[in-house]
Amino acid sequence: MTLEPPERFADLDHAATTRLRPEALEAMTPFLGRRYGNPSGTHLLARDAVRAVDDARERIAGHLGCGPGDVVFTSGGTESDNHAISGGMPPRPGVPLCSAVEHHAVLDPVLVLGGRVIDVDDRGSVDLGHLAALLDELGTEVSVVSVMAANNETGVVNDLDAVVEVVRSHEPDVPRTPVHTDAVQAAPWLDLRVAVAAADLVSVSAHKLGGPKGVGALVVRHGVPLRPLLLGGGQERERRSGTSNVAGIVGFAAALDATVEQREVTTERIRALRDRLAKGLLAAIPDAALTVLPSDDTDTDIDRSGELSLLPGICHVCIPGIDSESLLFLAETEGVYAAAASSCASGAQESSHVLAAIGVDPVLAAGALRLSLGWDSTDADVDLALEVLPAAVERVRSFG
Ligand code: PLP
Repeated sequence: MTLEPPERFADLDHAATTRLRPEALEAMTPFLGRRYGNPSGTHLLARDAVRAVDDARERIAGHLGCGPGDVVFTSGGTESDNHAISGGMPPRPGVPLCSAVEHHAVLDPVLVLGGRVIDVDDRGSVDLGHLAALLDELGTEVSVVSVMAANNETGVVNDLDAVVEVVRSHEPDVPRTPVHTDAVQAAPWLDLRVAVAAADLVSVSAHKLGGPKGVGALVVRHGVPLRPLLLGGGQERERRSGTSNVAGIVGFAAALDATVEQREVTTERIRALRDRLAKGLLAAIPDAALTVLPSDDTDTDIDRSGELSLLPGICHVCIPGIDSESLLFLAETEGVYAAAASSCASGAQESSHVLAAIGVDPVLAAGALRLSLGWDSTDADVDLALEVLPAAVERVRSFG
């Protein structure tokens, strides 16, 4: 049986990964062919690679609003997050803190290092009072505070300035407590200069914004000391050893160039598609509900009032009386690909710690559905989803 995608399908799982942008493919191709040098060398092939990486670093830094020297290239979001939390080898002393709805790439290293979890409200925003209490309790022992820029399941955008303000007003005078933000899901949609200005450490991954898989960056600002996590050849100014992924880095820069250049138009277009998808689903499945509302107010609609508080690409709903695994299976047979919680390495859907943390009833969470759109999503994707999903819900319910 072939696993090639069929002629007609709708990818509603762009939060998992996105198709490579043509600009990235074009920029990468020479570096997968005759320009294959290792930037750690000295001859012409090596110098060509050095120039390509330097140029990519400068462009990425420009888009992120930091200096080129602040950008440490990594293998992606997971490595960036692990590095930021641990502080390198050996791990930074002290207790890391993170919000309860972080991606496992943050949550797991925090827990392994004996860290503490900050409570969140029913939208998944950090409970600033709890953060302040933990800072007061632990004092100089806090090694890093990590709060994601936007959540990968619900799409909720955090107010990082408010988080940083609490950290700065509750930390001891010396040393400054580093604030990390995982901006992996925010990067395709939001101006990252805002997150980079607020935080000391910022994680980004190329494949979520039309770049290749296996490359990303950790932005390290304000002289935050960071030992390497990977030891060896001393690349990335001794901060991350390993031969540079030259083609990947070049593709990352090209994808980010295109993302930033097209951001306004793409965001408007995708938000309108997402709104049509959400409204269509809620109309066709009357007892389905948005898992989080766009903003704190009482507005129950996805609309403009929430445009700053929810990523434009994500529609998260809970459908009572179904289990998402059966729904996803039926949807897939009709060419609609989506997710429930985040997927784990086995491909299975894990039950969501995010939904548990924001207080969604486990019975309702069993029918969770994350539909996520990306830079190349179309009206046809939404049409197919609206044709397939309500009928699939009916069928799942008819199984009893
Ligand atoms: N952080 C968030 C919020 C994510 O959504 C993901 C990927 O799903 C990661 C980190 C991990 O990034 P990567 O796939 O580049 O390792």
